[in-house]
Amino acid sequence: MKFSKAVCQSCASPILRDYDKGTEKGGGHSEAYCRRCYQVGSFTDIKMTAREMHDRVLVKMTELKFPRYLAKLMAQNVYVLKRWEAEKSLAVV
Ligand SMILES: [Zn+2]
Repeated sequence: MKFSKAVCQSCASPILRDYDKGTEKGGGHSEAYCRRCYQVGSFTDIKMTAREMHDRVLVKMTELKFPRYLAKLMAQNVYVLKRWEAEKSLAVV
């Protein structure tokens, strides 16, 4: 599955405005990651794994009362994001 540039490549949340973007060391906006995941050139939670991000998205979507199948689908999308490329093979469907 292919994604537009407008979702964070770490947590899959939509990036709609510059405000939503993470920041680079030099002070510019990150084109790949959102502000919750990426600040001043590095990930805010550097030790996080794809599995943990998957679970976090699932919990968040469930909290937001998305239907279960949709929450699972969104969470599964985490595995195709750029940040987790190396961990893709670990995805369990
Ligand atoms: Zn993010």
